Parts: sequence; structure tokens; C-alpha cells
Amino acid sequence: MAFRTIIEPFRIHSVEPLRLTEPDQRRDAIRAAGYNLFGLSARDVMIDLLTDSGTGAMSRDQWAAIQHGDESYAGSPSFDIFRGAVQNLFPFKHIIPTHQGRAAEKILFGVIGGPGKVVPNNTHFDTTRANVEYTGAEALDLVIAEGRDPASRHPFKGNMDTSALDRLLTARGHLVPAVMLTITNNSGGGQPVSLANIRAVSEVAHRHGKPLILDACRFAENAWFIRQREPGQQDRQVADIVREIAGLADGMTMSAKKDPMGNIGGWLAVNDDDLAESCRNLLILTEGFPTYGGLAGRDLEALAQGLTEVVDHDYLRYRIRSTGYLGEALAAAGIPVMQPIGGHAVYLDARAMLPHLEPLEYPGQSLAVALYVAGGVRGCEIGSVMFGRHPDGTEAAAAMELVRLAIPRRTYTQSHIDYVIEVCQQVAASAAGLPGYRIVREPKSLRHFSAVFEPIPS
Ligand SMILES: *Cc1c(COP(=O)(O)O)cnc(C)c1O
Repeated sequence: MAFRTIIEPFRIHSVEPLRLTEPDQRRDAIRAAGYNLFGLSARDVMIDLLTDSGTGAMSRDQWAAIQHGDESYAGSPSFDIFRGAVQNLFPFKHIIPTHQGRAAEKILFGVIGGPGKVVPNNTHFDTTRANVEYTGAEALDLVIAEGRDPASRHPFKGNMDTSALDRLLTARGHLVPAVMLTITNNSGGGQPVSLANIRAVSEVAHRHGKPLILDACRFAENAWFIRQREPGQQDRQVADIVREIAGLADGMTMSAKKDPMGNIGGWLAVNDDDLAESCRNLLILTEGFPTYGGLAGRDLEALAQGLTEVVDHDYLRYRIRSTGYLGEALAAAGIPVMQPIGGHAVYLDARAMLPHLEPLEYPGQSLAVALYVAGGVRGCEIGSVMFGRHPDGTEAAAAMELVRLAIPRRTYTQSHIDYVIEVCQQVAASAAGLPGYRIVREPKSLRHFSAVFEPIPS
């Protein structure tokens, strides 16, 4: 590459206005939302980095595919197009569409979960953990030690500790219905899993007679990291790496709101005929007929097109470089960020930025509120608010206190990101004065979505 500037490999085709607001307006809005960023009206947000889930821009060709959607209740040709696009990358035998990833999880664990069972993963995403625990099973995180250390530069911090997995399967294997592996490891910082580790996890699981199920939401970003960082992978097509990964597994859950470039959608895929039949029976109860699941025919077509775009190397180079651009600029400004920079998000280390707060004064929440008030930038706490409350009712500090700035796909330009960098710098300069928070009200599970907070007076 002769030039340093990462240009977006697309130009803008239709625009959406951003409402520009002032700090006073935002202070009122966040107070009214109970200091919970999920409680804001998106009209009051300027740069929305809450999540990369379903927030990306669809392409011209995806909008065209929407017009091709066939809304037949049963046997829609749109389903064949969707299934073909999925199987082109993930050649699993049964492809079961759902309205999003958690619906696939609910159905899968509804069949294979249950009281006393244990489900290992590198790190369970929040909805995955909740769906495992809802059945009475235990959700166990077995990520490598480097994956819990925000400063470690390990190139594949999403890797699973395969010795710990082997020990678990030796000691309690009869309780384990399946091994899960999340690529990239979202809750662990959007960190990739190496191909060598996926091969090793597959070997251990299969040696113990257990199926390996991928939580593959960011498979293309993970495969790009493999291509960039793993010896011997540099000359491969991302699509081929993805096919190899799929071949090491026995099924997958998927949120099509991530790498498949959809605004909604998901699927469950398995090879096992009996498991597929049980899952389809639950699908009909909660989602719909197996040729549309929880989706319209037009959605299935948009996803099929999105799957061809996400494995494009120009797109992935831009995607990973532009996320790195934000992370590297923050690090250069002395702001502690999780290293190396992940694929879909930059994670600010709130414990390091707000050392005057105890973990249960929620430094991540405090930082996320401050970024919103200062610049209208909405991020997401990933720390003791999200993970601190345990199913038995006790509360304990999470392993890390992070604020995730997730980057929607193909949505913001470099000048938006330059603005975010300035906002972070301003907040970092005054971080010592930020208050802790206490929770006034919270629901029984997934409390980060609806808890009400108040600042602790200093
Ligand atoms: C988003 C996500 C899910 C859940 O998918 P939804 O479409 O939000 O229900 C599961 N696992 C991971 C890793 C995710 O990022």
C-alpha cells in the first residue's frame, strides 16, 4: 500500500441525519434514563457505538436483494438462496433460520441444556450465558490466561485453554452436552481464536465424544486475523479459512446482525439429524416454519448477499484497519485500551482510567456516562454491571472493567472517528473527578439492559 489513509471501500449512497446536541441536553437525557445508556432515545445520541449488532449499513446490492424476497409461508425460494449462501461458507447439513442469535441459543440449549449440565466456552457472550443458565446448566469460561489480561499482546487472546477443557471433559465429561467456541471472543474484547486452537479444541472435544458448536457471529473478522497473524495462512482466501473452521465443528449458532451484514437475523446449524429435528420442533413453537424461522423472505435474501460481501478482502482490510485506527490513536494519547485491538470494537480499560473507584462503584458505567455527556458518544459497559450479579443472587467484581466502543459496519467515516478520539481525550483528562455509581433498581437477569443507577455523591 502506497498511502497510509484507510479509505472506506464504498461511497455514500443515501444519508441519515445526525442530531447535534449540547452537553446540557445530554446531562438531562442521561439523568432521565436512570444513567443507563440503553435507556436513551437514539435521537439523543450523536455517535452510537453501543453495539455493532444490526446497526451496520446494508449495501446497494442487499437493498436490491430485499426486492427479490419471496414471502411464501412454506418452501420460499428465498430460503434456498439463504441456505446456499450459508452452506457455501459453513457446509453444515441442517440450516435453521432464527430471528437473531439468542433465539438460536434458546432453541439449542432448550434441547441440550438442563439442570446439572456444564457448557464450556472460551467466553460465553451475555445472552449465551443467560440461555445456558436459564435451563439450569452451568456456563463455564475457559479462555487462556492472556485473554483476561487487558495489557497482554497475545495475537489470539480468544483462544481456549485446551488443557482446562481436557481436564473438564475427563472429570465431568458426562455432564457436558457440547463444547462451544466463540469467534471472535466478544466478551473477551473481540479477540480472535487461532486456527491452531480451533483445531486443538475440535480434537479434544471429539476425543471425548462431544460435538463442537461455534458461536460464529464474527467469523469473517476472526478469519482475517488468522490470515494476518497465523504462520502459513497469509496466502489463503478468507472464505477458505472459514470453510476449514466450519469443517472442524459440528454446528453453529449465529447472529446475522454481526458479520452477515443484516439488521436482523440469525441461524442455528447442525449436522446431527436427531438434534436438528428436536430443534426444528422448538423452532415451530417460538420462531416459525423451518423455511423462514423468525425472518421474512426478504431478510433471508439480504443476508445471503451480505455473506458474499463480508468475506471480501478489501472490506475486511478496511474493517480491521479502521477499528485499529481508533484504538491506536487512543493508545497513543495515553488512554489504556485492551491490546491488541480487536475486530469490531475498542475496549477502554476503565479500571486503569478510574483507579479511584472500586469495581462495585462501576467505573465502566461512570466512564460510559461521561463519554455520552461530553460528546454524545454512546458506548457500553462490559464489567461488573454486566457480569457482577450471579444467578445465586450474590454480587462480585467482574474480571475486567471495560467500556466497549463497538463500530457499526460501514456506517461511520474517519472524521466521525476522529471526533470520538477527541471526546475520549477530553474525558480522560478529567477522569479523576468522575463519580462512582450505585444501582437503585435491577431486574433478575441481564441487568445491564434495564438497571437504574445514581451517582454516588463525593
Ligand atoms: C450478538 C451475539 C450473540 C447474540 O446474538 P443476538 O442476535 O444479539 O441475539 C451471541 N453471541 C455473540 C458472540 C454475539 O456477539
